[in-house]
Amino acid sequence: MHQHHEGVIEHIQRIVDAHLALIKEKASPEFARIVAQVPIRVLWDSPQHNLYGDFFGVPLDDAALASGAAADIVLYASTIWEEAKGDAAELQHMTIKTLMHELGHYLGLDHEELGHRGLA
Ligand SMILES: [Zn+2]
Repeated sequence: MHQHHEGVIEHIQRIVDAHLALIKEKASPEFARIVAQVPIRVLWDSPQHNLYGDFFGVPLDDAALASGAAADIVLYASTIWEEAKGDAAELQHMTIKTLMHELGHYLGLDHEELGHRGLA
């Protein structure tokens, strides 16, 4: 992989880690516990043009909890990087928005419900 790509991925991963730490510190214990269950990975290439992130697996509900069903979240660094156009604040904003959007899917929210929360 291109060295520049590695650097962007690491930067986005640090934004994700900092935001997860903030959730752990500030959010309800219930939400923090749910968030801690899902792996969040940052990859460079998105499988589709303009895809910021994706959620894989079964949205969290009682059945998923009972079955221990796996889920994971992927953020696509190339899309976030291109959208931010070199603006550090925008890079942080897009990363956190994508993270919260995919966590919303994990909680079972659809795009209409995410839109009401400013996360579409
Ligand atoms: Zn979505």
